[in-house]
Amino acid sequence: MKITPLEFKTDYTETLRAMTAKHVDETSPLERYNALGTLLKDYIGELWANTNKTYRTQKTKQVYYFSMEFLTGKFLANNLIYLDLYATAEKALKELNISLDELIEVEVDQGLGNGGLGRLAACFLDAMSSLSIPGHGCGIRYKNGLFEQKIINGYQVEYPDRWLVNNNVWEYKRASKAVNVKYNGKIETYMENGRLKFNHVDYDAVRAVPYDTPILGFDNNTVNTLRLWSAEEINDVMDFEHFSKGNYVSAFEKKNNAEIITQILYPNDSIEEGKLLRLKQEYFFVSAGLQSILMTFKKTGVPIEAFAEHVAIHINDTHPSLAIPELMRILLDEENLTWDVAWRITTACISYTNHTIMSEALEKWPYFMIQDLLPRITMIIEEINNRFIAKLKDALHYTDEQKIHDMAIIADGLVRMANLAIVGSHSINGVAKLHTEILKNNVLHDFYEIYPEKFNNKTNGIMHRHWLLNANPDLTDLVTETIGDGFKKNPLALRDLLKYREDASFQNKLFDIKHKNKEHLANIIFKEQGLRIDPYSIFDVQAKRIHEYKRQHLNILHIMMLYNKLKENPNLDIPPRTFLFAGKAAPSYYVAKQVIKLINTLADVINNDTSIKDKIKIVFMPNYGVSLASRLIPAADISEQISTASKEASGTGNMKFMMNGAVTLATLDGANVEIMNEVGENNIVLFGLKDDEVYRYYEQGNYNAFDVYNNTPDLKQVIDQLTNGFLPVPKEEFLPIVERLLRFNDEFFVLKDFESYSDAQERIGLYYRDKRHWMKMSITNIACSGVFSADYTIDKYASGIWHVNRKPLDFNL
Ligand SMILES: *Cc1c(COP(=O)(O)O)cnc(C)c1O
Repeated sequence: MKITPLEFKTDYTETLRAMTAKHVDETSPLERYNALGTLLKDYIGELWANTNKTYRTQKTKQVYYFSMEFLTGKFLANNLIYLDLYATAEKALKELNISLDELIEVEVDQGLGNGGLGRLAACFLDAMSSLSIPGHGCGIRYKNGLFEQKIINGYQVEYPDRWLVNNNVWEYKRASKAVNVKYNGKIETYMENGRLKFNHVDYDAVRAVPYDTPILGFDNNTVNTLRLWSAEEINDVMDFEHFSKGNYVSAFEKKNNAEIITQILYPNDSIEEGKLLRLKQEYFFVSAGLQSILMTFKKTGVPIEAFAEHVAIHINDTHPSLAIPELMRILLDEENLTWDVAWRITTACISYTNHTIMSEALEKWPYFMIQDLLPRITMIIEEINNRFIAKLKDALHYTDEQKIHDMAIIADGLVRMANLAIVGSHSINGVAKLHTEILKNNVLHDFYEIYPEKFNNKTNGIMHRHWLLNANPDLTDLVTETIGDGFKKNPLALRDLLKYREDASFQNKLFDIKHKNKEHLANIIFKEQGLRIDPYSIFDVQAKRIHEYKRQHLNILHIMMLYNKLKENPNLDIPPRTFLFAGKAAPSYYVAKQVIKLINTLADVINNDTSIKDKIKIVFMPNYGVSLASRLIPAADISEQISTASKEASGTGNMKFMMNGAVTLATLDGANVEIMNEVGENNIVLFGLKDDEVYRYYEQGNYNAFDVYNNTPDLKQVIDQLTNGFLPVPKEEFLPIVERLLRFNDEFFVLKDFESYSDAQERIGLYYRDKRHWMKMSITNIACSGVFSADYTIDKYASGIWHVNRKPLDFNL
């Protein structure tokens, strides 16, 4: 936007005065932040209205991205960058004696997601707007986002994330667009004009109220919408009959029962709990979202038969897969279409992303739970299932009862959401090449045989304008002065940096920037934890959800071994290292929480042991979220991506680290494989079992963790140290971890990969010591990270899955 600092200053002071009725110097940082947000919203508002008008009048095909989670983080800095107002605002505010940095700090993260899946949805919204694709988010406005993590006595303790207490400047409540969502009750049937009709009676209705947040495109005047739904009681605030009789608690009961639906985000990552409230949440935003899409569509005057040519609906994992029967319900019961027409439209509209192969994460709902809560939806799922089984038997002549049972949507008293999503959509994509191959050849092979055309790969991507431009401004400046700013819109241009791989002056500048970022992080750690770490040491970072498959404990066991070696020989010549960890564990995931306690216990021992001469330090940074990631990743030298091969569908943390110049230490899992292909084997450090080896062990059952334990003395020593009093905790404290590794035979091959990991660690340490060599690796990683921009990912979703028009891009892959 073209606004001078002087105009900006005038606009800002007026907004601040109108909102606070105070002189500028009497206002609080929160008031100043709110005024800045409000002013930006005013600027954005005009672009937003124009974008919507264009969509309406041109009847453009719209994409709706349904996701249970949107982990957007903060908006202020990104919006300023996207409006090209950052420098202007900084200057104007400075004249008022206000620090923009301080206002950016005031904003709290919108943490409506668990991890990668939710962050992906946020990065995709950005890319859709930035590519001028008419694409919007649809989700839930949880009053409490992912819990706040504190570490007390080494343990994770969870606190509610009350992100709305100071009100959210970026959203608009659209009360006039509220809709009702119906639960429970029963279905009555009757005949009308020779057609069987269904009537839902005695239901409980909940009001779904949308809150819209503008999603800006980068420098292109496009503003799309993130619409999050909030549950409210239908008859306003309370039950007057109860109230007037003095039953004050019951008077608010209905209101509370309704509002509880959007009270909390379930904190489980990669585990499903099958809770009724979760099912209510899933139907809640799916039903509200579809109703509002129908209303918008009807305003265009296009006949309903052409719905699929004007609307694409994408479901992020199976959580929104009730969109399939819900869209069927609307088309059948409200639009009076026949089953065949409704089915053609539904499958043509809906596409599905699979995020996991782990069976504990696959959603399956007890049949009776769904039937009780959603009687009409259950009838439709039943009919979809019957027709699908009939197709297998009659059209495809399947006779293998086991296979038919495995593919059924309803079986063993459960409704399998992945099967529903596959049958009811036209596209199923995996999120990295390896993951998609595993889906096709293994996990979903039976479906691949009958629907090969539905399966495709879309490797995940990240919003490079956040993870580079916003999170690492110094690196952004260096890149811009070296190769120009074309990479901001065309991230593949980062490849031009390859020319500077061996350029000593460029290497030194990059080293200085990394060092400055490390100093900055070290200062934060000192301020928050009173712990001093050396910015000249290697910053070796593992930041992600805590999960056994992600193997934080592999990292820890290796650190213990290093520590033992240093105790034996304090003069051992290793490059000093700081091991940094961050991540939340699901509150119900006991072993993962024990891993956090183990990290902190070991940190206490090692950080206070002066005999090892500060050669290693361990830091656990609490409350991992987008903001912490944005500080941690630009300061990382080593990116730990060490999941058991085949388990990490893609990973996106790996891409963010690489883009900020960290070198990846990795198994050949998820998108690590593609990172290797981009940078070449010399610029990544690999170790461990491959996916097919992992599968072979599972199939043949011939892995024996005890053998590895008994035959690897260094490893045996550290595992014994977990329970022999070596650590200052009761001996049984870490027994559950040891049991998983030995008695339960190490499902994730931690012991099997230990030696290979230790070798890789030693190698990467040697590379770091050779500064020229290291900087060359680092530059290669930055230069090759462009393909992992969500811009490319979304470009492929747009052409390959959604078939939406977009402005042609000036890039070619
Ligand atoms: C990117 C990101 C993740 C995903 O990290 P992975 O290493 O891919 O698991 C999780 N949480 C936050 C806050 C992120 O920014």
